[in-house]
Amino acid sequence: MTAGRLPLTILGGFLGAGKSTWLRHQLHEGIFAQHHILVNEAAETPVDNLLLGRARRLDVLAGGCACCVGKEALLAKLRDICNSASGARAGELDGILLETSGLADPLAIADAIARDPVLVRRLSVAGPIVLMDANLGAEQLQTEPLARAQIETATRVILTKPDAVSPDALARLIATLRQIIPGAELSLAERGVPRTLPDVGLEVPPLPLPVLAQGTPILAHRLAIGAEGDWTALSTWLSALLVARGEDVIRVKGVVRAPAGRLLLQSVRRTMQPPEILPDDDGGFSGPSPQEGVIVLIGRNLEADLLARSWERFGGVGAK
Ligand SMILES: [Zn+2]
Repeated sequence: MTAGRLPLTILGGFLGAGKSTWLRHQLHEGIFAQHHILVNEAAETPVDNLLLGRARRLDVLAGGCACCVGKEALLAKLRDICNSASGARAGELDGILLETSGLADPLAIADAIARDPVLVRRLSVAGPIVLMDANLGAEQLQTEPLARAQIETATRVILTKPDAVSPDALARLIATLRQIIPGAELSLAERGVPRTLPDVGLEVPPLPLPVLAQGTPILAHRLAIGAEGDWTALSTWLSALLVARGEDVIRVKGVVRAPAGRLLLQSVRRTMQPPEILPDDDGGFSGPSPQEGVIVLIGRNLEADLLARSWERFGGVGAK
């Protein structure tokens, strides 16, 4: 029975799976247009809302993952939305879409809602839709307990960035996902645009899935690089960091000032993505402006002061 309840779609997936890119394309196509979009990031400096641009109703839940430390903030926000979506304004909203942080367990969020005496009567939780990077998915399923847990909760899995993957590797990943979650709907999307799912026969063996122990926790760190930082030095330092510590640095995100303008900077594992130039005026974007000159590094075994000292030394050299 979902009558009278507002659908909540949970969009999950590991760090760098491409959740914002996928969602941006759906919004562009008018899908989820009448949804209230909630963006949760593990870091205090939110940048994903910049990727989402002009969603009509968008709130950023920054400063804590909504499945754990940010849970109360999420529940309070959901109660607010439910209250304002009732009465005279009932029917204006088709639903809520929550883009979770890459560190979130979607099941923990669904659980928290089910335990909330108000929200359990007001929301019907759909999904979760879980995105997985088709290039990194095999490795993540074999080594990242969190990535595997996210997939295990999915009712729908979308493999992102499939164009760069060999047909054999893609088939093997699909066979593995079918083994883990036999009932889930599988699809492919390149930058949000659907691609045809290849036929994968039963002769394709799934990947071996070792039992995974909980590893070192993944944490988000902020690094101040200066509002007028030396862009060349920064990109060189980041590239060097990703080469040296690519196993530990899972994700880098931030907004920095470069000669060309404001740049949105992102990496997934060892790969720096091409920076996106942002307009100087934040008026067109929903949600708060990100702090300039701060980058967020998410990973394991990272120490904020060591990173800061390394950058200082390097920035000093680069600025000479
Ligand atoms: Zn969490």
